[in-house]
Amino acid sequence: MLRMHTIQTGTVGIKTLQLHGEGHGARRLYNTLTDKTWVQVPIFAWVIEHPEGIIVVDTGETSMTARKGYFPQWHPFLRQIANKFCVGPEDEIGVQLMKLGISPNDVRWVILTHMHTDHAGGLHHFPRAEILVARKEYASARGLRGSLQGYLPYRWPRWFNPRLVDFTSEAIGPFPASFALTKASDVVLLPTEGHTNGHLSVLVREEELSILIAGDTSYTEQLMLEQPIDGVSPNEQAAGQTLKRILTYTQTNPTVYLPSHDAGAKMRLSERQIVQVPGTVKTSCYQ
Ligand SMILES: [Zn+2]
Repeated sequence: MLRMHTIQTGTVGIKTLQLHGEGHGARRLYNTLTDKTWVQVPIFAWVIEHPEGIIVVDTGETSMTARKGYFPQWHPFLRQIANKFCVGPEDEIGVQLMKLGISPNDVRWVILTHMHTDHAGGLHHFPRAEILVARKEYASARGLRGSLQGYLPYRWPRWFNPRLVDFTSEAIGPFPASFALTKASDVVLLPTEGHTNGHLSVLVREEELSILIAGDTSYTEQLMLEQPIDGVSPNEQAAGQTLKRILTYTQTNPTVYLPSHDAGAKMRLSERQIVQVPGTVKTSCYQ
């Protein structure tokens, strides 16, 4: 079994209608923008101690978010979330890795599920790692276009020059293509577009058990089982297709499902608790 760790880099407030979108198309986005109810959720990142090198999936958020002017005031959504972050310096991923006995400089790969600020906010801790992002995600997140879509490209470290991922390896279950990260092919990247245009997930295969580090494909496991589109995905059709593929995969392979903002994810990883098939008797853990 690989040693894996959950790192929580503070919390962030998200809107109720982000979890479970209401309406379709522009109306769904508008409903989310005007929703006034918030829930505070954890911001998770993940560490895999792999024989080929240490892998970090997402970098969490930075305590810089507390500084006035960190978020652009002109952006209708970012302006609203600017004071919803609760991230102290000791919450940042660099400090937390050190507490685990891992120097950020010893991390071989950093994988970004997508480039929203609460996933890319800790990039500055990893100047020596090889950072991987899906080609489509990087294209969406860059420059003015990225800023308009709510990314913070001007906050990326100057040295940031990621390796861009194209999914050219074999299909895996319902996923039409993949990208094998490790030579052992036990850590594989999967295209899971929808929440963002180039969102990816990381599949870790431990013998017959799958661990799916799923970013923001859904905000909780329950929402993945229920399959609603979230309130911010720019592409409703892609988001729906991704949710369906994940559900299909988890119903045919014993899978621990780990979204970035699901309070239950840390426990599910440590106990290797798999997604249950709806309608079956709930047995606790994968043996
Ligand atoms: Zn996101």
